[in-house]
Amino acid sequence: MSKLNFAFYWAASCGGCEIAILDINEKILDVVAKADIVFWPVAMDVKYKDVEAMPDKKIDVCFFNGSIRNSENEQMAKLLRRKSKVLVAFGSCAHEGCIPGLANLHDRKEIFERVYHETPSTKNPNRDEPITPFEVREGTIHKPIFFNTVKTLDQTVDVDYYLPGCPPPVDLIVKALELITKGEVPPKGSVLAPEKSVCDECPRTKDQKKISKIFRVYEKEPEPETCLLEQGILCMGPATRAGCSAQCLQVDYPCTGCGGPCPNEPDQGAAMLSALASILGVDEEMEEGYDPEEMMSQIKDPVGTFYKYSLPHSIIKRKVMKK
Ligand code: SF4
Repeated sequence: MSKLNFAFYWAASCGGCEIAILDINEKILDVVAKADIVFWPVAMDVKYKDVEAMPDKKIDVCFFNGSIRNSENEQMAKLLRRKSKVLVAFGSCAHEGCIPGLANLHDRKEIFERVYHETPSTKNPNRDEPITPFEVREGTIHKPIFFNTVKTLDQTVDVDYYLPGCPPPVDLIVKALELITKGEVPPKGSVLAPEKSVCDECPRTKDQKKISKIFRVYEKEPEPETCLLEQGILCMGPATRAGCSAQCLQVDYPCTGCGGPCPNEPDQGAAMLSALASILGVDEEMEEGYDPEEMMSQIKDPVGTFYKYSLPHSIIKRKVMKK
């Protein structure tokens, strides 16, 4: 049987997804026994023009990590879509927008103002900003165009599968690679992760307790075996797809939601707000005078809490900017 052709690409992301591929350790040998890696800019010197020269669909599977922040990301998404039989949105940035997607609370103008003019370490008396195209003695430089809005991979091109996580857990990567190399892939559009929530994988016990105070992580030392949410520590477990073996919960850290929404749940933040609404309140042991607005005001960063990984893919997608 001839070997498959794999490609890995890194768009607007931190690079953690690339490290996650290396984290499969010796299993990479099983992968290269069955597949040639024909494009992997972080590890191999292959130029964009080499990809452009490939016949269409030459790549069997492309693992694309990163969101679409600029015109280079978009151009590569379109090119790799054309050259690949199967395109996998690899990791939270490609899947949901992730941390780069929180920039959708601002637009290009605000971001440039902050980055090029306001940061304490910046000295820019001429108020220079990137210009493209830009003429220099040697020729014309074309820089990527910075978009107003961060998009996910599937808001840019057609995507076949999603591998969630920030970065995707090693077990999920190994399983996905096994399915792909054996040709046993699920239906197009599938998320390659279990059909359940992080709470379903979490070893902590839930007692259906109500909470009257919300704590930030550093404000409370949690009891080791009780649900963090029922201790007042915001945990996105009820609204987040499983697949991570609840690793964060095992070290007393709440789920922050990197697995994206649960199956059949279009908006992770709305789902978490709904879960939270059902647990906020008073029980017979609590004092009277419960004020829902005061309780919600205890959440210091609502967007960064409920939409940390999913803002571009959510129903709201971005902040509406004043003209
Ligand atoms: Fe575990 Fe968090 Fe779910 Fe509680 S809310 S059961 S701590 S994942």
